[in-house]
Amino acid sequence: MSYKHKPSIIEKIAETLHIIPNLHDVEDPGLPRLTGPGKLTDYPPPDKWNDWEEYEATRWSKKETRHYSIVPTTCFNCESACGLLGYIDKETGEVRKFEGNPYHPASRGKNCAKGPATINQIKDPDRIMYPMKRKGGRGEGEWERVSWDEALDDIAGRIRKALQEGRNNEIAYHVGRPGHEGYMDRVLKAWNVDGHNSHTNVCSSGARFGYNIWHGYDRPSPDFANAKFILLISAHLESGHYFNPHAQRIMEGMMDGAKLAAMDPRLSNTASMANYWLPTNPGSEAAVLLAMAKIIIEEGLMNEKFVKDWVNWDEYLQKQHPGTEVTFENYKAKLLAEYAEYTPEFAEQESGVKAAVIREVALEIGKAGSRFAAHNWRSAGSGNLGGWAVARALHFLNVLTGSVGTVGGTSPNSWNKFKPTFFDNPPAQKFWNELHFPNEYPLAFFEMSMLLPHFLKEGRGKLDTYFTRVFNPVWTYPDGFSWIEALSDEEKVGMHIALTPTWNETAYFADYVLPMGLASERHDINSYETHSGVWVAFRQPVLREFARREGKDFTFTYEVNPGEVWEEDEFWIELSWRIDPDGSLGIREHFLSPYRKGEKITIDEYYQFIFENIKGLPEKAAEEGLTALEYMKKYGAYEVSSANYELHKKEIPADQLAGATVDKATGIISKNGVNIGVEIDGKAMVGFPTPSRKQEFYSQTMVDWKWPEYTIPTYIKSHVHEEKMDREKGDFPLVPTFRLPVLIHSRSANAKWLTEIANRNPVWMHTSDAERFGLKSGDLIRVNTDIGYFVDKVWVTEGMKPGVVACSHHLGRWRRPQDKEGNRWATNTVKIENKEKGKWKMTTLNGIKPYESDDKDSKRIFWSDGGVHQNITFPVHPDPISGMHCWHQKVRIEVAHPEDKYGDIFVDTDKSFAVYKEWLSWTRPAPGPNGERRPIWFHRALRPAPETFYLNQKDKK
Ligand code: SF4
Repeated sequence: MSYKHKPSIIEKIAETLHIIPNLHDVEDPGLPRLTGPGKLTDYPPPDKWNDWEEYEATRWSKKETRHYSIVPTTCFNCESACGLLGYIDKETGEVRKFEGNPYHPASRGKNCAKGPATINQIKDPDRIMYPMKRKGGRGEGEWERVSWDEALDDIAGRIRKALQEGRNNEIAYHVGRPGHEGYMDRVLKAWNVDGHNSHTNVCSSGARFGYNIWHGYDRPSPDFANAKFILLISAHLESGHYFNPHAQRIMEGMMDGAKLAAMDPRLSNTASMANYWLPTNPGSEAAVLLAMAKIIIEEGLMNEKFVKDWVNWDEYLQKQHPGTEVTFENYKAKLLAEYAEYTPEFAEQESGVKAAVIREVALEIGKAGSRFAAHNWRSAGSGNLGGWAVARALHFLNVLTGSVGTVGGTSPNSWNKFKPTFFDNPPAQKFWNELHFPNEYPLAFFEMSMLLPHFLKEGRGKLDTYFTRVFNPVWTYPDGFSWIEALSDEEKVGMHIALTPTWNETAYFADYVLPMGLASERHDINSYETHSGVWVAFRQPVLREFARREGKDFTFTYEVNPGEVWEEDEFWIELSWRIDPDGSLGIREHFLSPYRKGEKITIDEYYQFIFENIKGLPEKAAEEGLTALEYMKKYGAYEVSSANYELHKKEIPADQLAGATVDKATGIISKNGVNIGVEIDGKAMVGFPTPSRKQEFYSQTMVDWKWPEYTIPTYIKSHVHEEKMDREKGDFPLVPTFRLPVLIHSRSANAKWLTEIANRNPVWMHTSDAERFGLKSGDLIRVNTDIGYFVDKVWVTEGMKPGVVACSHHLGRWRRPQDKEGNRWATNTVKIENKEKGKWKMTTLNGIKPYESDDKDSKRIFWSDGGVHQNITFPVHPDPISGMHCWHQKVRIEVAHPEDKYGDIFVDTDKSFAVYKEWLSWTRPAPGPNGERRPIWFHRALRPAPETFYLNQKDKK
């Protein structure tokens, strides 16, 4: 078939003169168009995924076509793990592009810009293709290629020796981008190592603590699509983290009439689309939320039935107001008295948001009632001393409106998250590692990861073998020079193994750099609370599945991935076998096939077992004549359940009630000394996993753990409160936490499309503040922190609250001249000097430049500004309760000094150690009741054996 219409004279002339391609002599195969009018949501049908033919975009005028094998996987560029379809050219075996997977229940075929940009990452000319071992001194930049066998044997021997010598606490695994749904917990338990460390304390501990103290769940799951009013205290989440699945549903809710309010001192993309922008002073959010709570109570908009049934108001009266008759009317009266000072006018004074607006939004929330959806993740929860109180105050609004777990309300995360069943569960480790869970922070959520360099410096312990997994603390964390000092010291860190897809600032200080796959090059399962429903997705190495479809023989994923890029799953199995070559350590037994007695488990068998044990999946697969594993390989995702509401009302089955007792006063149902539910209206319900099995307005836990001033939702003044500012001297609160929607912390630097869109991070400053300094956009300023300074450009904008400045946290990536070339789309070349102990200086030698590579686009780089590394100039600010690093900084801003150059950085790590000590002095250490290290009812990552929860195990009762 050729083009049907006859060429016009003009077309003929243009074709003859080769001004346009000759379109009339070309045979057109007449393939269906998926993007024609009304067809934007069409995708290739799954029955054609083994052989999908479509036009070749780079040869459009010739009407050439290509045949593809389409393999589903999931995106790795933020936590939400949206579905992707990898298109593999059947002729060349090359992955050509990624598009959305319509069978993924959370992303539903849609992605943000970071999803399809996965193709840039796998084709990045600077990526690490082979295992590398350092030559020369650590951090000197010399590397040699080694085999996987050599690396595995070396690392395994070291771990085996440490375990045999009882140095279990010297082995640590530190994860940046998590996932894996329990995979690493299994590995570390099998090793009997309390070695899990994570990035949580620089991310979400504040919000987690605030939610947990209410109801034993540490994350919210808003039902945006069905809400009538949505309140977000999270520019981070909805513009970067759960960006796409949440954004879709917020838009659906709004199209259905929901109103949106965004609380943020910066006019974020989300705030710009909202009905209400509430530009609060950083750290004042809880004051505003408590004022809203007061209005809701005063206006009679409280859901009394929910509060009466599901809040421990009676315990509050008994403990806080002994002698007062325990009636709900008395509770309401006390409630109003508790919050009497939180008038809208007080909230305006603290926040700078007009009292009338606060009142209007409060009434909207009250009217939305059980359809009020809210979220707080990083943002205020992670920025401020006492930031956890923001999430607690926000959830108070959900409690008052009875929107906990309702349609259009906000559910606990665990209701909408899948938990896998494993073929084998090693016993919990018998160790408690105080390098990760120190006694000073008994309530922290979770590991005090940002303090590790200081703990090592103080001699609290050392690390024999330290794995970092997709983790870059030198750059992402505060106080990166303290990390460089720790990682450079072989006495403190015996061996550092960086498991990473790309070179990064932390990997430069490793002994082994082991290349791990990007999204489409590794196995994993994912499940997140993106909406009301439970789903599970399968991240699979697409070239492995392609090889299987093509009948190719292989054993390990690195045999089909580019170079020798591997994946952690198979790596940990192989490493575990080599740590325990004869089975005498009891490790090997946890890595045996559930299907082939005595033989090593394969990665297919690992996932086969999990998928076979998902409710309904084997039956669904059988409808197509597939096994559960085959189904997941084919579709990449499965919806386990939908519409999970009011699960706290689930009745306890009669067989579980046998032998249980009910406390007549509280209604708490317990069995074998454990609270299992609560009696409401004569029915035995599971309730919430708190000591009272209810929402805890009053927290006895806070009293027991020495914080009686915070027994109920409270406002805590931030370390960047106005009272701390000397405005005459140029003090400002700096908000350094906001995300750009197209970037990821330190993993978008190898994506050329994303870096092309966003490549610098100026300091946002309001016009009125800029006028005071005589600044215009592009001028240089020196931003002084408590431990040093950075020199950046200023961006003058009306989109920033006056008196507050902000700087995005993605940019300012760097490498030194001696380092391997990596991420050159985004890295400045810098010089780092450390002429005097503790005094570090960084200067930019050059910015981003075009370069020669296999990718022609690398010569076309037109941007030169790679931004400024601000985080490295921040001291650690560990919140004494939640353990959250409080990111906001009180900074002193000056017009740049004559000698200052863009990107200059100075830090004094002696000062950063002193700031750490100061914040540490505010803690109230364990033990708590009964000698406990941590409340037993709190979550703990990689929960160790019960007896380890007691500082002296003889205290165990
Ligand atoms: S929201 Fe974007 S970055 Fe995150 S998983 Fe989805 S496509 Fe990837």
